[in-house]
Amino acid sequence: MLLRSQPFFSVVAALRPIGALGRTSGPAMASSAVAQMPVSISAAFDGGNIEFVSSSCSASSASVVELRLRPDPLTELEQKRHMQWFAFRALPTASTSKVRYEIVNAADASYPEAWDGSAVCFSYDRLEWSRSWSTSYDSTSGTLSWEFDHAHRPGVPVYFAYFDLYPYERHLDLVDRAAASPRASVRSLGQTVQGRELECVEVGNGNLHVWVIHRQHPGETQASFYAEGLVTRLLGLGAANGRVDGLTSKLLERCTFHVVPHMNPDGAVMGHLRTNALGANLNREWATTEMYQAPTLERSPEVVHALAAMDASGVDLFVDVHGDEELPYAFVAGAEGCEVWGPRQEKLQGAFVAAYSRANGDMQTKFGYDPEPPKGANYAICSNQIAQRFDCVSVTLEMPFKNSAANHDRDAPFDGSRAAMLGASLLDAIAHVAPQLRPQGDEQGTPVFGPEDEYVVPTEKYRLDVVDA
Ligand SMILES: [Zn+2]
Repeated sequence: MLLRSQPFFSVVAALRPIGALGRTSGPAMASSAVAQMPVSISAAFDGGNIEFVSSSCSASSASVVELRLRPDPLTELEQKRHMQWFAFRALPTASTSKVRYEIVNAADASYPEAWDGSAVCFSYDRLEWSRSWSTSYDSTSGTLSWEFDHAHRPGVPVYFAYFDLYPYERHLDLVDRAAASPRASVRSLGQTVQGRELECVEVGNGNLHVWVIHRQHPGETQASFYAEGLVTRLLGLGAANGRVDGLTSKLLERCTFHVVPHMNPDGAVMGHLRTNALGANLNREWATTEMYQAPTLERSPEVVHALAAMDASGVDLFVDVHGDEELPYAFVAGAEGCEVWGPRQEKLQGAFVAAYSRANGDMQTKFGYDPEPPKGANYAICSNQIAQRFDCVSVTLEMPFKNSAANHDRDAPFDGSRAAMLGASLLDAIAHVAPQLRPQGDEQGTPVFGPEDEYVVPTEKYRLDVVDA
C-alpha cells in the first residue's frame, strides 16, 4: 500500500506495547484438558507472522483460538511499528472440527479500516489457495475472525494468510530459471541488509529503458506473483523452446527491460508487512526529507543499489508493484503531484492505464488514490522520485488483498494467478505507449492518442458505487 496520508490514530495505536502473552507458536490447548487440544499454531517458517495467545474449547460450538499480529521493527521515519500481514500454520487433531480464529489486535494494524470486506486466504498445500468467506471484522472489539471446519480434512494442517504465500524459495527458482534463459542476463545490484542478492533480470536490445521493481513492501505478496507473470512472458519461460509472443518480440527490439522481482527479501522471510530487516519502510527511503537522510547503505542498501543502477542506465518508463489493503481494485498511482507533471505526462499516463485496462479486466481507470495536489509530491516515495528524476512515465501499481470489484468472481477471486496475469499484461500497456515515450528527432509537443486513451482522474470513493467484494 502506498497511502500518501497516514491517519494519525493508527500511529498512536501501533505504539501500544505488545502483549506479554504473544508467542510465535504454541499448542492451542485448554490448560487442564489435553484431550480438548483443538489445534497447534506455528508461524516459524518463511513469511510466517502470528503470535498465539490462548484457546478455549466448547463441546457445543466452535473452539476459539486467539491470536495476535506481530509488528515489524520500529520504523524510525514514521515512529511506528507496522503490522497487518499474517501467515501461520494450524495443525489440528484428528477429532478437531470447527475452530473460530480471532486476531484480537486487528484494530492496532496499520490500516484497520481495510479489514472490512477482507476474506482470509487458506491452503492445504501452500499452492492452491481459497478464501474463507466467513471472515468478519468487529470494529467494537477490534477483532478479525473467521471459522474453519477442520472436519473436511481431519488432522491435516492448514495454512492461513492475508494473501497467497510466495516463499523465498519460489523467488530463487524464478531467478535461476531466468538466468538459465539465453534471452536474459541476471545480475546482482548489490546485497540486502542480511546478505541476500538484489537480483535484476535484464532482457531486450532497445534504447528505451523500462524498470519494473516489486515488493518493496514484503507483506504484499501479490507483487511477487506479478513479477513471475512478467518475467515468464518476457523470457518465454512457459513456452516450448522459450518462444515469446509477437508483441513481446517487437517490444524487446524497442526496449531493454530491467526487472527486480524482489526488493525486500529480508523483510519477506521475516514476515514483515512494510519494512526491511532494520525497520526501514523502503518506499519512504528514496530521498532525504527534512532531518531524515535517505537512502543510506546502513539502513536501506536495497534502495541505494537500485537507484544507482537506474542512474547508470536511465529510465524511460517505471513501474513499482505493490498490494493495497483497502481498495478492492487494481490501479495505478501516478505522478500528478510532481514538478514534471504536464500535458505530456498526462497523455502518456492516461494512455498507459487505458491500454492496460483493455488488455486485462483486473486493471481499471476509475478507482485509485485521489491524485496528489499539483507540485505536492513526496519525493521520498519511489515512483515520485523516479518520475521527477528521469521525467518519465512512473507509477505505483497496486493490487487488491480483497476480491477485485472490477472483475468480480467469487468462485475464482483475485489471487496469485490473477496477479501473475496482470504482470504478463503489463507488456500490452507498454507496447501501446512505447513509440511516444520519448520525442523523436525534431518532434516536440505532446503525444497523440485517441479519445479512448484520455487520462481519467482516479477517485478513492468506491463505496459510492456498487461493490460486492
Ligand atoms: Zn506497498
